[in-house]
Amino acid sequence: MTDVNEHDGRAWRLAREYGVRIEIADLGEWGPGELRSEYDPSGPAIRINRRVVERLAPGERGAFIAHALGHELHHHRERLGEVERRSDRAARERAADDFARALMERV
Ligand SMILES: [Zn+2]
Repeated sequence: MTDVNEHDGRAWRLAREYGVRIEIADLGEWGPGELRSEYDPSGPAIRINRRVVERLAPGERGAFIAHALGHELHHHRERLGEVERRSDRAARERAADDFARALMERV
């Protein structure tokens, strides 16, 4: 992934600071319930679904990966106890997306 711009780079840097490994892996079919990425606490590692990346235009890949990294990093921070882990799954997912967006928008 060579098209990482300055904003996208923040999520990569954060992952490195947390010592989270980043892998681009085949996580299965892309569909309505698509798995875009996953967080593996035992790595710790974040896996980005290669199938999704390959379907995107090259110019969209950096932002997609940065968002996925930010999202999964939120789950890592939940596990570390740095942020509250909501009991409701949908609320957890929203919080992770909000964190990812904030990471990409912060100047
Ligand atoms: Zn999630």
